Amino acid sequence: MADCLFCKIVRREIPATLVYEDERVAAFNDINPQAPTHVLVVPKRHIETLNELGTEDDRLIGELVRRAAAIAGERGLSAGGYRTVFNTNRDAGQTVLHIHLHLLGGRTMAWPPG
Ligand code: AMP
Ligand code: ZN
Repeated sequence: MADCLFCKIVRREIPATLVYEDERVAAFNDINPQAPTHVLVVPKRHIETLNELGTEDDRLIGELVRRAAAIAGERGLSAGGYRTVFNTNRDAGQTVLHIHLHLLGGRTMAWPPG
């Protein structure tokens, strides 16, 4: 999508620190990290929110989740733990309307979230 921030990152029109990329998935450091590890894992295809997902996207979403777990593993976070979050629309604070899975780790997390 032409005006989407994360589509622009995927197309390399805006700089980001990419930590993973394949045909369908990209992962890059959050510009305003909330933990020592704060990576956003995104589909390369523009999908606004979880509300737009269909059964044909099940594999893609599985790839996002497994990629987040793999990045956590590379960073030694698997056993200690980490948080993965999809924010959806206004009440959850979604600011970029392109699905992204937050991977947060490297510090203790509070629950419930704010
Ligand atoms: P959300 O509030 O769930 O929509 O998350 C959007 C995230 O994108 C926030 O954590 C922002 O810090 C992050 N973000 C915004 N602009 C950029 C950018 N240019 N590069 C990397 N992350 C960004
Ligand atoms: Zn997009």
